[in-house]
Amino acid sequence: MAVAGPGSVELGFAEEAPAWRLRSEQFPSKVGGRPAWLSFRNQLPRKNEFYSFEPPSENRPPDAGESVCLQLQSGTHLCRVCGCLAPKTCSRCHQAHYCSKEHQTIDWRLVHKQTCTQDQVDHTVPDHNFLFPEFEIVIETEDEIMPEVVEKEEDSDIVESMGETPEEELDSMAKHESREDNIFQKFKTHIAHEPEQILRYGRGIEPIWISGKNIPQDKDIPDCPCGAKRIFEFQVMPQLLNHLKADRLGKSVDWGVLAVFTCAESCSLGSGYMEEFVWKQDVADTP
Ligand SMILES: [Zn+2]
Ligand SMILES: [Zn+2]
Ligand SMILES: [Zn+2]
Repeated sequence: MAVAGPGSVELGFAEEAPAWRLRSEQFPSKVGGRPAWLSFRNQLPRKNEFYSFEPPSENRPPDAGESVCLQLQSGTHLCRVCGCLAPKTCSRCHQAHYCSKEHQTIDWRLVHKQTCTQDQVDHTVPDHNFLFPEFEIVIETEDEIMPEVVEKEEDSDIVESMGETPEEELDSMAKHESREDNIFQKFKTHIAHEPEQILRYGRGIEPIWISGKNIPQDKDIPDCPCGAKRIFEFQVMPQLLNHLKADRLGKSVDWGVLAVFTCAESCSLGSGYMEEFVWKQDVADTP
């Protein structure tokens, strides 16, 4: 992920790209498909013992097949269906690896039932119709910071309904709804210049909320296990839903804003991947 300067916002856009450009060697910014695992958390000086000093080639490497990598350099196996860590192995052939019984079942029904008993297990991976479509995330800097369209309101309009007359109650409900409208309007104005953006990246900036409901307070964001605070790093926008075609899977996935908070100290506890914190905010129901 590109690193923005202080105060600047980087926008991400989903674009079609050939599969080889989204593999680990290319350090891709991507969405969908299988994870492009790196050896470990990627905060190293340019000269290091794990990766080449030179950036990866912009040209298609000669060995770039469309084959799916199901094993990391460390020997760790990845699930044939989703590409995540695969601690489970087919008990008959011992050559097919899965993250879970559920994914074993998907693969079994589609192909492995036929290939499991063969002497030479077929390692080509079929389309399980399980993954989200894969896109490159192309990053651009947002041209201008949009002016604020509404004053940040005090939280005093949070309804205190005890002892209110019906008129007062209606009044404060109306106030509440107009605050909700304001926040949604502000969201729309903010993204109007680049309505296709699927991601906003800006470490330490204020996220743009889509609703007045369910905005986290400081205490809602847990500290990093290292003890440092977590700060906002980027948010995933609802536009991404259009690209993922989630309904195709027969399951509904939905969000308004996904805000990701990461360690303010960018610590490197342990040697593996670090769990970060995501806050999901839904679009408020219109009354
Ligand atoms: Zn899996
Ligand atoms: Zn098997
Ligand atoms: Zn930390």
